[in-house]
Amino acid sequence: MGEILEELHKLQIVELKLADIRQTHDDKARRLERFRRRAEQADDQAQQHARTVRERQMRIDALSLDIAAREDQINHHRVALTKAKTNKEYAAILSAMNTEKADSSKVETDALQLMEEMQTLKETGEAIDAEKAKHVADAEAAQQALEAYDKQTEEARTALEAKRAGHAEKIPGPIYSMFSRVARRNEGDAMASVEKTHPKRDDYICGGCNMSITLEVVNALQTRDEIQLCGQCGRILYFARATAKK
Ligand SMILES: [Zn+2]
Repeated sequence: MGEILEELHKLQIVELKLADIRQTHDDKARRLERFRRRAEQADDQAQQHARTVRERQMRIDALSLDIAAREDQINHHRVALTKAKTNKEYAAILSAMNTEKADSSKVETDALQLMEEMQTLKETGEAIDAEKAKHVADAEAAQQALEAYDKQTEEARTALEAKRAGHAEKIPGPIYSMFSRVARRNEGDAMASVEKTHPKRDDYICGGCNMSITLEVVNALQTRDEIQLCGQCGRILYFARATAKK
């Protein structure tokens, strides 16, 4: 394996360690995002619920006013009854009063039903609040876990980044750029070893994707320090055997 491939391979080892740290960080960040979203959804639900409760309370208040007004009306009729001058007048007032009483009783039944519903709404609201509190607590824990992980890996990350820069210096710019592109596409895994599938036959495959590699590519790798990419997965190919010696 030539010098540049040698350097790329060292870079690859560093890159994979960095990718590993990055992936764990990303997993924790996604977890945090998930909990945050749930907390937000629960908050939306809680607000929606609060609006429902307010609307229901306004209806109950309106019904209470209605009941009070009808009560006044009934009292008014009751006074009028005592002042009725004829039987006919008396009967008319009595009839009006009874109608008022029946209507009032209907409104009271409605108000009672609404108040019962309010009780159920209150219980639902408590459940929503408890759910929200749980998601908020989960999000806080996830945030702490993410921060702790970043702190814990900071030193290793800085050291690896310095190492990466050291290797990068020894690699020609365009090749380093290509390596970085391939690494980004494959979660840091920019290189693949060429593997022989049969001890007695010249059949080779890419260790990254198992696609067969032509002899032309194999020869180029073995004889010249050339960068060869797998035609299938695009990884930079190398011979593992040569690396193991180092
Ligand atoms: Zn491949």
